Amino acid sequence: MAKKKSKSKGTPLRRSCGAMAAHMMLLETHPSFRAAQMRLEGATSRRRDSPADLAKIKIVTIKTVVNVVYKTDAQNISDKQIKSQFTAMNKDFRATNPDKSQTPAAWQGLVTDSRIQFKLVKTTRTKTASNGFTFDDKVKKASTGGIAPFSPKTHLNLWVSALTGGLLGYAQFPGGPPATDGVVINFQAFGTIGTAQAPFNKGRTASHEVGHYFNLRHIWGDTPDCSGSDMVPDTPNAAGPNFGMPAFPHVTCNNGPNGDMFVNYMDYTDDAGMFMFTAQQVLRMRAALDTLRAGL
Ligand SMILES: [Zn+2]
Repeated sequence: MAKKKSKSKGTPLRRSCGAMAAHMMLLETHPSFRAAQMRLEGATSRRRDSPADLAKIKIVTIKTVVNVVYKTDAQNISDKQIKSQFTAMNKDFRATNPDKSQTPAAWQGLVTDSRIQFKLVKTTRTKTASNGFTFDDKVKKASTGGIAPFSPKTHLNLWVSALTGGLLGYAQFPGGPPATDGVVINFQAFGTIGTAQAPFNKGRTASHEVGHYFNLRHIWGDTPDCSGSDMVPDTPNAAGPNFGMPAFPHVTCNNGPNGDMFVNYMDYTDDAGMFMFTAQQVLRMRAALDTLRAGL
């Protein structure tokens, strides 16, 4: 199998996340999701007004299920590769990733431990006829070539499969239907070994997507100008996504001298160029964890 290494074929070179597209679709099709999201926004701002010491909040371990959906043998990734994803993700969420030292000095003080960590409790493996999935949730249903989530109210479900169109992954925000709740990740951007391919082989697609799962938005606010917001007060307003490995500073939206916080997990930079969540992002994630995701 896979004797010949086809490096360029099918490998996405730029980060591409389908979370907002999936989000917009869900808002249209599920009115209750919109209402739940609005309630969560209220709970988040109340929490912001009565800040607790983030260094003392409870450490929460999230029971996590990995659903491997594969067509080729290569896509049926090894247990070792799955484990490598948990090692990376736990470092990122606990801010013990050694490369956080590369965070520009201006933001070093904002690097924050979410005190959220992940434990693999179950792996499923499903053979599919699909050549690749997109953000339409077909990977989450047996009738469309995937597999349903395992106990999604109490477990984070990660699906790992081939994705089409250069998509690295997508996530469902809190408050959506349980049948599709969780995170989908391209098998070429999952973990740090095996089928994981540079520049997305440091496990950060999962850190980014699980950030969405805990209600974080893209750092530029998902508008093609300066009007959007990620609803996080300690991340600078930014005009759009940053790709690759930008040089510091990249000033947009009058956010000088430090510019866009492109080292944040919620930007679109390469895995080797993102190192941090901020304090207010952690507060936002914890607000989701305490309300709509309390079952975890
Ligand atoms: Zn995203």
